[in-house]
Amino acid sequence: QVAKNLDGGVQTYLASLESESLRRLGLAADLRRALDRDELEVHYQPKIDLSTGKLVGVECLARWNHPNYGPVSPAEFIPVAGDTGQLGRLTMLVLRQALVAARAWSREDDPMSVAVNLSPKTLADLSFPDRVAAYLAEFEVEPSQLTFEITEDVMVSDRSRLLPNLDRLHELGVQLSVDDFGTGYSSLAYLRRLPVQEVKIDLRFVQGMTTDEGDRAIVRAVLDLARHFSLTVVAEGVESAMTLEELTAIGCDIGQGNYFSHPLPAERFVAWRETLESGHEGGP
Ligand code: C2E
Ligand code: MG
Ligand code: MG
Ligand code: MG
Repeated sequence: QVAKNLDGGVQTYLASLESESLRRLGLAADLRRALDRDELEVHYQPKIDLSTGKLVGVECLARWNHPNYGPVSPAEFIPVAGDTGQLGRLTMLVLRQALVAARAWSREDDPMSVAVNLSPKTLADLSFPDRVAAYLAEFEVEPSQLTFEITEDVMVSDRSRLLPNLDRLHELGVQLSVDDFGTGYSSLAYLRRLPVQEVKIDLRFVQGMTTDEGDRAIVRAVLDLARHFSLTVVAEGVESAMTLEELTAIGCDIGQGNYFSHPLPAERFVAWRETLESGHEGGP
């Protein structure tokens, strides 16, 4: 009886492994087709200056609505793209949309900033900085309007290739941000060595800070450290008024999260921005 149960468990496990890798294989082929047909989308999530309530920019997030599976999370399809040699195309697609948005949403004395996520693999591509420079020129966007968000794994990846590329991007004048800060193999010393201007505190600490002493301590420590290095601090995953209040009280610069807005398709973001701005004019 026991053996039978165990066996059943193993079979279920194997079956789930099999369907998982089948899904992955299917996704890889479908992703190729989606890229060919330009079916991936980009959604935009506002970043808000916590001292003024004003919009400071948007993070551009890849979205894929699969014909059979429905929305597939970037947490799932980005690794598939990376394993199947499609990440370069995907990144350039997102970058293109980001630069179109930066240009369309800028105003005379108020340039729109856009942030794009980069995987270490993209950053290790020696031709990447040149392609970024060419895109900036083509879309007529100032380098300072573009931020690349990199995760801490960059610091433990192939640094001999990554660091020169980071330096070249920095020389171009684009901004660099460390994403999901506090979750990886962060060596605090890297913050000083890398040409970064911003850190984004991972949402798990932000979400925990109103109830958990440890999370609150981490958020405060990151703020402290960032001040020493003159870095801008973004709190991601702001979901409640209470979190917002606490972040503002301790002097966090920028907030991003569903409390302000979910990531939105372009047209809906434009409408959201109008509502925000009409609120400001009519406000106290
Ligand atoms: P990330 O760069 O840390 O992006 C923030 C994630 O948090 C997004 O998930 C966003 O939708 C989610 N989020 C924002 N506000 C809230 C909130 O208040 N509560 C909660 N629970 N979540 C919130 P998303 O869009 O699913 O993206 C997941 C990750 O996939 C991103 O994490 C990023 O690492 C990666 N990713 C997305 N687009 C791209 C891309 O174009 N290229 C690369 N290389 N990676 C991407
Ligand atoms: Mg990000
Ligand atoms: Mg993040
Ligand atoms: Mg994340």
